[in-house]
Amino acid sequence: MFIFRKIDLVFHSSVMANSCRKLVFNIYIGFYCSAVIMPQKGICSQFTSSPIDEFNKDPEAFPVATNGEIFPWHELRLPTVVIPLHYDLLIHPNLTSLDFVASEKIEVLVRDDTQFIVLHSKDLEIINASLQSEEDVRYRKPGERLTVLSYPAHQQIALLVPEKLRADLRYSVAIDFQAKLADGFEGFYKSTYRTLGGETRTIAVTDFEPTEARMAFPCFDEPLFKANFSIKIRRESRHIALSNMPKVKTIELEGGLLEDHFETTVKMSTYLVAYIVCDFTSVSGTTSSGVKVSIYASPDKWSQTHYALEASLKLLDFYENYFDIHYPLPKLDLIAIPDFASGAMENWGLITYRETSLLFDPKTSSTSDKLWVTKVIAHELAHQWFGNLVTMEWWNDIWLNEGFATYMELISLNITYPELQFDENFSNTCFEVIKRDSLNSSHPISNQAKTPTQIQEMFDAVSYNKGACILNMLKDFLSEETFRKGIIHYLKKFSYRNAKNDDLWHSLSNNCLESDSTSSGFCYSDSKKTSNTLAFLRENVELKEMMATWTLQKGIPLVVVKREGRSLRLEQERFLSGVSKEDPEWGTLQERYLWHIPVTYSTSSSNEIHRHILKLKTDTLDLSEKTNWVKFNVDSNGYYIVHYEGQGWDELITLLNQNHTLLRPKDRIGLIHDAFQLVSAGRLTLDKALDLTRYLQHETSIPALLKGLEYLELFYRMVERRNISDVTENLKHYLLQYFKPVIDTQSWVDEGSVWDRMLRSTVLKLACYLNHAPCIQKATELFSQWMESSGKLNIPTDVLKIVYSVGAQTTSGWNYLLEQYELSLSGAEKNKILYALSTSRQQEKLMKLIELGMEGKVIKTQDLAALLFAIARNPKGQQLAWNFVKENWTHLLKKFELGSFPMRTIVSGTTSHFSSKDELREVKLFFEYLKAQGSHLDIFQTILEAISKNIKWLEKNLPTLRKWLLISI
Ligand SMILES: [Zn+2]
Repeated sequence: MFIFRKIDLVFHSSVMANSCRKLVFNIYIGFYCSAVIMPQKGICSQFTSSPIDEFNKDPEAFPVATNGEIFPWHELRLPTVVIPLHYDLLIHPNLTSLDFVASEKIEVLVRDDTQFIVLHSKDLEIINASLQSEEDVRYRKPGERLTVLSYPAHQQIALLVPEKLRADLRYSVAIDFQAKLADGFEGFYKSTYRTLGGETRTIAVTDFEPTEARMAFPCFDEPLFKANFSIKIRRESRHIALSNMPKVKTIELEGGLLEDHFETTVKMSTYLVAYIVCDFTSVSGTTSSGVKVSIYASPDKWSQTHYALEASLKLLDFYENYFDIHYPLPKLDLIAIPDFASGAMENWGLITYRETSLLFDPKTSSTSDKLWVTKVIAHELAHQWFGNLVTMEWWNDIWLNEGFATYMELISLNITYPELQFDENFSNTCFEVIKRDSLNSSHPISNQAKTPTQIQEMFDAVSYNKGACILNMLKDFLSEETFRKGIIHYLKKFSYRNAKNDDLWHSLSNNCLESDSTSSGFCYSDSKKTSNTLAFLRENVELKEMMATWTLQKGIPLVVVKREGRSLRLEQERFLSGVSKEDPEWGTLQERYLWHIPVTYSTSSSNEIHRHILKLKTDTLDLSEKTNWVKFNVDSNGYYIVHYEGQGWDELITLLNQNHTLLRPKDRIGLIHDAFQLVSAGRLTLDKALDLTRYLQHETSIPALLKGLEYLELFYRMVERRNISDVTENLKHYLLQYFKPVIDTQSWVDEGSVWDRMLRSTVLKLACYLNHAPCIQKATELFSQWMESSGKLNIPTDVLKIVYSVGAQTTSGWNYLLEQYELSLSGAEKNKILYALSTSRQQEKLMKLIELGMEGKVIKTQDLAALLFAIARNPKGQQLAWNFVKENWTHLLKKFELGSFPMRTIVSGTTSHFSSKDELREVKLFFEYLKAQGSHLDIFQTILEAISKNIKWLEKNLPTLRKWLLISI
């Protein structure tokens, strides 16, 4: 799943910055093997006796089913005595009455005698269920009718059999059922779109991850229960049906209905099953290995599908080659769904996307839109291996799917789209999660998750971003070649099966396939260099032990460096933002934290990258030569923050001012990041960090320049929201004065490299936001021309949002934009307009937007979370959005599930930027009230911690900021 979306709004939040996932405002604003050889130790060890024995001993301890009878199973996880092998599914959705009728036959293997079968089922009406033994099937005997018990609290049904099912035998369970097409975004749900002619059309689509396949058909809805699926779909002739596999044939039924039969799938988890009934059109192409790739969209958006086709053909070729494993299906469809909760979902062979994550409109999609679309395609395609072919055993290790897919975005785009210069963007992936991971309420990458809500909460920045960052660190440590071999080994070994953390570490440290291993334990084909790295690794570190410190322990380490002559003293501690060493809780929060950190450093005396593994609290290194400076964490590849004690920071600041190019661009970005992080932990004074940014006027790397600017803008937004007028004015003045040369040289045309274009968007957006006269004038001019042309004028895409935002400040402009919003067929443009509308300074306009979002017609419900998020970032809208959420919580809960990404975005998006004690008290009270109502999320604690951190930051640093500005302007 793709859940994260970078937001181009800058805010001081420790929560949303890491977890804003979907691209809402595009700028950026988601056991085993074959049943026969199932290795059951791990699974069965949890049961000390068979479920039947347990049930017979104490039936009272079991829950009560809806009909008043005792439900024979009390765990959230399913029993493993009956496992599915094959599902035959026949589904008939009716897009007029908005419901579906369906039937299924599940072939199961019984591993131990039992008298019941427990399955997942949610909001389905079971009409009847029956059972046939293998013999019954052979002699075509009718099935025996089963009693069905339902226990909705666990989303389970139990099928009671009259006679015990016998171990090692196969049975066939037949179930007829029906339900409404769901209203939300999960299970088998309806989605609608408007045609150019103004007609509203309905489609039916599935979205199952993590636990919603059970809303579409009764099933063993856990990732470990892999099976094959044969799917048939009935439809009217005006529609088409799509599923994971290609269609084999279509049968015409009485009454003119058509029934499509799809090829049986490979063995896979239920959450990857997908089917869609729609009237979309497509473009297709074939990869060099013969896989047919098609991009589907609603008919009027067909012209926006071509970029996605080009990108997915290129990326699928890349992955087949990189993983040395063929994509196993004959086709791959990517489809843009008009109503979609996350960014995209990797269903095997039928990937579903939010429209803005797949479609590219040359007239209105900006360079960051292109980067986004390419990145989401790269992410979902990587999942066809990481996630689909090899799946985590349980949701606690979702990072094995998501961390890898996020990491593969970097690897694949670097090679397939070097012109996108994605490499220089990757450190932001790590910086985003550090905000969350440096709070005490963070969680380990591999974390316990039991209930559906807890499972949903696992889809967060820690699983995605931190997962990717520690993989990147490990690759840097092992070498790209060794790392790649290891993951190929992992993918080949666990194909069509499930894996856990340890399996990955084992594959990475024993990456020889049997065919090329030697007696020494090294791969014959390894280069000398790689063998040395491995030897180095084996002598010094156990990979599993090392990686456990990153996956089983939450947080991020701080490496404190002190140079004395030729000696470097290193010390590691847990980095906590918002807590300084003087605070009484600091000591307790440090207890038992220790990482095995593969540190790297460079010095003034050579270009060499030095490596060391810091396994202890403190360590000492000897430099071979005298140096003027030392810089740790080369290219920001490591997941740790560095503090230089003594003269360390001063030496680096001097270096930046004298000749910043002596440090690599990514090292400069890392220094800016770490300096401001250290301020929030009370280890560096704010004026020192601000002094470090003074060299930026000469900075030649755009990503480094943007990083510095990001912090200054963040402070501006914070003081502006709090209405601290003197600092706001002075900071505005400083920004416009200091960055004048770069602002003045920007053109209002789409030209230059990706980074040139990113710089243009960012700098002009800030300049207009700060009311810089030439910027406002140019944007106003373009907006008037655009209005006069009735929206036909092509405005350069990189400044489109800026022009709309300036235009939205007048009533006529705002109203016109809202009209265009309704008419536009480009999701990229709609995002820009919606963002612009949300920047209005008039509260009644903001309220109107929220009402439209709640109504879900003009502004789709899928965009409501992003809308509230954006309004909460507007100083005139922050209180409005927060009050709205408090007063409409139950209405919101009807639209989105509690743990879902949109709901988490809404709650953290409207609160986590707060920075006063009164606001903290209010949010706390509200969360306590929710908890009392039974609505609890782990993210609540993170939000409270983020607000406390903001309060402390302001208390401590506002006087310094005020003083620094006075001497700087
Ligand atoms: Zn994903």
